[in-house]
Amino acid sequence: MDQLGELGFLGMLIPEEYDGLGLDMLTYLYSLVEIAWGDPSVSVSISVHNSLPTQILLRHGTEAQKQRWLRPMARGELLGAFSLSEAGAGSDAAGLTAQARRDGDGWVLDGAKAWVTNGASADLVLLFARTDTPDDRRGSRGIGAFLVPTDAPGYCPGKKERKMGIRGSETVEVSLNDLRLGPEHLIGEPNRGFRYALAALEGGRLGIAAQAVGIARAALEHALRYAEERSQFGAPIRDFQGIQFKLAEMGRRYETALAILERAGRAHEAGDPRSRRLSSTAKLTASESAVWIARQAVQVFGGYGYSREYPVERLFRDSKITEIYEGTSEIHRWIIAGQLYRERDGVQ
Ligand SMILES: Cc1cc2nc3c(=O)[nH]c(=O)nc-3n(C[C@H](O)[C@H](O)[C@H](O)COP(=O)(O)OP(=O)(O)OC[C@H]3O[C@@H](n4cnc5c(N)ncnc54)[C@H](O)[C@@H]3O)c2cc1C
Repeated sequence: MDQLGELGFLGMLIPEEYDGLGLDMLTYLYSLVEIAWGDPSVSVSISVHNSLPTQILLRHGTEAQKQRWLRPMARGELLGAFSLSEAGAGSDAAGLTAQARRDGDGWVLDGAKAWVTNGASADLVLLFARTDTPDDRRGSRGIGAFLVPTDAPGYCPGKKERKMGIRGSETVEVSLNDLRLGPEHLIGEPNRGFRYALAALEGGRLGIAAQAVGIARAALEHALRYAEERSQFGAPIRDFQGIQFKLAEMGRRYETALAILERAGRAHEAGDPRSRRLSSTAKLTASESAVWIARQAVQVFGGYGYSREYPVERLFRDSKITEIYEGTSEIHRWIIAGQLYRERDGVQ
């Protein structure tokens, strides 16, 4: 991560005035595709940092907050994480219960967060906690966004999850115990944090779609090579129509995923009102394509596909998470259906 930071990969979407590279969305997404082609565990860290905490700081932070935190984050000197989920609040993230209480002009946070990518290794976590009070609950309108240094007393990373895939990516639980923050750690309005999170996640899920496209391409390339090298019945297996049809379908699904990723990336950049639907469509299409393609790649490899000696076994395990985080496939289908009606009815 230090080396990627030096090369500018942690400031890809930050304007140059804040020491970022100021890249356009498609260049950013292609970069993530290439990194995920090599290692999806690395790409998720880069995607989270670039699309969630830094974007929320850029859009809603004060000038002082940007000078203090955004600049070093863009230079790669500080790594950012994002903590919305809790054990009891995943798809229904607005049901989170971590509580922020006013303490003079600052805040005290208590509660438990779950599934925080880089939650122990990052320097700063953009963390969501309730700012409404127990006797006046306001649902999604009672949540604040706080920028929490991981060395703050009371920020306690717990157990690291043992996962099916992306094992090179750290995922931890975090408990918040009487965590005291000055007023400068609140980003934007105290009750609008959930809105900021939802808006940023629209870009975030494009990063996960790019990750899935990278996994899909890696799996396809491995399968193409192996089908040439492996012979059975006196011929390379690529000569058999059963394998050719499989490779053709893998290629078709890969191209479809890439095409919708590009379309959604352009729409996001242009502020197109359809971009919410297109981001969800890209994430859903790319993740389901990646899982399918990686599974077929294992099949093309036969018994060796099941062995850890070859990379397709890892790609198969790594692909699955893309259907789960930053909105599950079920949630994206729900969003897409809702947006189709909103677009038809001209509702933003
Ligand atoms: C490796 C990893 C890294 C993660 N990193 C982060 C991170 O950095 N920050 C962060 O905040 N979170 C992170 N998460 C959390 C992730 O975003 C959630 O796991 C995800 O949103 C799903 O929530 P859940 O696990 O609670 O599942 P649940 O919401 O309990 O869902 C269980 C099942 O029910 C389905 N379901 C739920 N609601 C509906 C509905 N209305 N209609 C139909 N089906 C429904 C879901 O699709 C799913 O199949 C991470 C998770 C993992 C596994």
